[in-house]
Amino acid sequence: AIRIADLFRREQELLGRTARVRGWVRTRRDSKAGISFIELNDGSCLKNLQIIVDLNLPQLTETVQKVSTGSSMQVEGVVNASPGKGQSIELHASGIELYGGADPATYPLQKKRHSFEFLRQIAHLRPRTNTIGAVARVRNRLSYAIHQFFQDRGFYYVHTPIITSSDCEGAGEVFRVTTLKPENMVGNEAGEAAAGDFFGKPAYLTVSGQLQAEIYALALGNVYTFGPTFRAENSNTSRHLAEFWMVEPEMAFCDLEEDLEIAQALIQRLVEVVLTDCREDLDFFVRFIEPTLRDTLEKVVESPFETVSYTDALELLKKSRESFSFPVDWGSDLQAEHERYLTEKVFKKPVAVVHFPRSLKPFYMRVNDDEKTVAAMDILVPGIGEIVGGSQREERLDVLLEQMKLKGVSPDDYRWYVELREYGSVPHAGFGLGLERLLQFTTGLPNIREVIPFPRTPGHADF
Ligand code: ATP
Ligand code: MG
Ligand code: MG
Ligand code: MG
Repeated sequence: AIRIADLFRREQELLGRTARVRGWVRTRRDSKAGISFIELNDGSCLKNLQIIVDLNLPQLTETVQKVSTGSSMQVEGVVNASPGKGQSIELHASGIELYGGADPATYPLQKKRHSFEFLRQIAHLRPRTNTIGAVARVRNRLSYAIHQFFQDRGFYYVHTPIITSSDCEGAGEVFRVTTLKPENMVGNEAGEAAAGDFFGKPAYLTVSGQLQAEIYALALGNVYTFGPTFRAENSNTSRHLAEFWMVEPEMAFCDLEEDLEIAQALIQRLVEVVLTDCREDLDFFVRFIEPTLRDTLEKVVESPFETVSYTDALELLKKSRESFSFPVDWGSDLQAEHERYLTEKVFKKPVAVVHFPRSLKPFYMRVNDDEKTVAAMDILVPGIGEIVGGSQREERLDVLLEQMKLKGVSPDDYRWYVELREYGSVPHAGFGLGLERLLQFTTGLPNIREVIPFPRTPGHADF
């Protein structure tokens, strides 16, 4: 069998020849002239392949009667030029094999536009829709491109742990890990009370692989980690998930400026990949989701990002006539509304905000000479706000210890982290890019729940 995408790609060469395809039926329509038209999709591309079945052939007719939207089948036939509009070729069936039917009375994905809310309830079937299928292909291409980007530059891929005891950064939003014997499952009160920590010690699901990536950067030079990350985000926003994927490079002998350069190069490269390698899916998103998407993406590739200090950004926000719901005083964190204002109204392009107040940021960020700010950066994009958070790390032992004291982090709990400054410390920097935020940006989908196969948010952990 040949994938439908490959059939379309090689159509010139395959015209007049026999091909076999397999997939899922989007629609079937019978004409009065005794022809059945079947739209077949196999997930390899957005386009359906039109199957033409001559109902005068008795050996096919019986099978075709059982074919409906959602059925799975294999078809063998001759590739012909199509007289129809919107398609170049069609397959004239000589043999049909039905794998599985789909009862039209109950199959939830009938030929119409379903709401995203509804599709989330059928996460086991929604990849068969145009939108979610397109997202899955773009997500795959971007994940591969992330590895390509770093591998091409000599970075090593490091697997940082999922279970860890040292995730102070996400204090208040971490998931705790417990050991649970079958007899202690939920509902058994005595059992629940007996549920232990991670073999007697508290442990959590990682909120970031950064601290462990630092360990490897201080041995291998340039590394990156790319995996799932967990945060017990309690608010329901359109850009937060409880489980999301983050790519986190960490570079030795690197300062904030280079850190920002690499982040910008990465984002530009990934956007370029979508523009060149995901054309069909991008066309779809432009047509049905966000008409200005291609223009926005092309601009990102063409021009460098804007850089603005937190202090200057705050002045811009104060001067604006926008009525924000959150305060814009020096020392307060930027909220989504501020981030979007800067990217959409002021600069109209991605913006890197650098040098945030020391009080806002975690202990490991490098303290600037003014002692009031740290060498941090957030990259913001139109429509979403933050997609990257990064910083130069504090490599000076005395300053790190002072920062820990200030932030109430015990050096005993982070002995290993402190030792990296005692033994062969070097300036280093890194950042985290959220894969789903990038996908929102490159597909135009407003809600993050649509760009991950199985969204985890409060109350949703099925499948
Ligand atoms: P936000 O301000 O949006 O809550 P953050 O500052 O808490 O994000 P960081 O700790 O800087 O996030 O994490 C690095 C990146 O990971 C973010 O820039 C974003 O792209 C992504 N990210 C963070 N939290 C989430 C989440 N809950 N769901 C999806 N992506 C996230
Ligand atoms: Mg957050
Ligand atoms: Mg933030
Ligand atoms: Mg951040």
